[in-house]
Amino acid sequence: MQTEDTIVSPITPSGEGGVSIIRLSGSQSLPILKKVFKAACGKQEFASHQFYYGQILDVEGAAIDEVMAVYMASPKTYTREDVVEIHCHGSPGIVRSILDVCIDRGSRVARPGEYTFRAFMNGRLDLTQAEAVIDLIKSRTQSSQRVAFSQLDGKLSTFIYKLRDQVCDQLALVETYIDFPDEDIEQPHVCALGQVAGSIRDQIDNLLDGFDSGRVLREGASILIMGRPNVGKSSLMNRLLGEQRAIVTDIAGTTRDTIEERLSIGNIPVRLIDSAGIRDTLDPIETQGVQRAQSLAGSADLVLLVVDGSYGITSDDTLALSYIGKTRILLVINKIDLGRLPLESPFNHFPQVPVCAKTGEGIEALQKQVEVELLGHPYDFGGEDILLSDRRHRDALVRCRDSLSSFSQGLEQENSPEFLALELREALDSLGEITGETTPDEILNRVFDKFCIGK
Ligand code: GDP
Repeated sequence: MQTEDTIVSPITPSGEGGVSIIRLSGSQSLPILKKVFKAACGKQEFASHQFYYGQILDVEGAAIDEVMAVYMASPKTYTREDVVEIHCHGSPGIVRSILDVCIDRGSRVARPGEYTFRAFMNGRLDLTQAEAVIDLIKSRTQSSQRVAFSQLDGKLSTFIYKLRDQVCDQLALVETYIDFPDEDIEQPHVCALGQVAGSIRDQIDNLLDGFDSGRVLREGASILIMGRPNVGKSSLMNRLLGEQRAIVTDIAGTTRDTIEERLSIGNIPVRLIDSAGIRDTLDPIETQGVQRAQSLAGSADLVLLVVDGSYGITSDDTLALSYIGKTRILLVINKIDLGRLPLESPFNHFPQVPVCAKTGEGIEALQKQVEVELLGHPYDFGGEDILLSDRRHRDALVRCRDSLSSFSQGLEQENSPEFLALELREALDSLGEITGETTPDEILNRVFDKFCIGK
């Protein structure tokens, strides 16, 4: 497909750099290139996918910059339309001037995500792959890169298409009965339909089981460091960060608010929050910090509850524990260089790692244990696996599974084929929403709103 409306924008970040790239996409890309570019070789014919050296000229014919330009003929392009890219010097002023001349010659500025949107509309990418593009750009760890790349590579869509084919086969069989209202579905068909519906549901359940891990790898996790004053929370934060960020003092109650940093722990992108020390206090500012820690504990994926292993459990440790609620706890037994007293119940029941924040001893084991707590196992995502990581996909799969359950119930209750077909069509719609075939416009808009200019 070729769009008359030719769009243009820089596809590299703004600011000074070695090179900036400006992309045009649409049917006027080549005619515009011919108007704005003078090749050093003197020819104005462009072979597809070949670089040409020359100058960009403004509308008066004055040279703006020395560039390399490439014309890529449809359909072997990112958008499947004709595409032109101009590689100019990385100066915001030059980029602006080249954009202006391209606009003067008949293109308009691309909206955020419009290149990928065109790639999607032209069938170059399905919706899960378009979403993977933005995930890949935003990925901060090797594991989130892998999850996004596997999705871009089409692994999730291939799986969804397989499910869709199985549901389509079911629907075809049920529909053969719709034309014969007086006939019941034959018993062998009822059994076969029930079995296949069950097997599709199992495949969906398997995928849903991996969602928590996938979500953590893709979106990252929030980890709250909690504990009474002076147990070494700030020291632990600094250790994990590998730099001096939180203020470490031996005066109790110095971290009165929260300090937040982003880092990777093992393979997981993490938002690490150091909270105020928890103790029974009348100080109004400290009380606020404690309340904030309590509310953050409720929304965190994991709480690192720090205790002083050399001192043993105090009433403030028990108070800190009581504030955590239902969030998963990993007990960090700090200051083991000073000795280690046995922990009493319930502290001895939590998964725990002894560390010395002062020297770094035990920190590697702590990082590994964090990964286990968040993923349920040590990280071992092979590129061949399919990992569900997006809430939109998860919700659609849950709806698909529910429709299949209703279908199975309907079979048992000997519902009419029309009614059964309806459930299967709903299951198909849910699958189509994932890949973009039946996705409502408002959801499409939401997906592409996440993109930046030039993508
Ligand atoms: P917070 O109030 O819980 O944030 O505790 P800090 O990180 O500010 O540490 C309180 C005091 O304990 C400081 O004097 C730290 O140097 C000290 N400290 C922290 N971790 C250790 C440790 O593993 N061993 C020893 N011996 N001292 C530590």
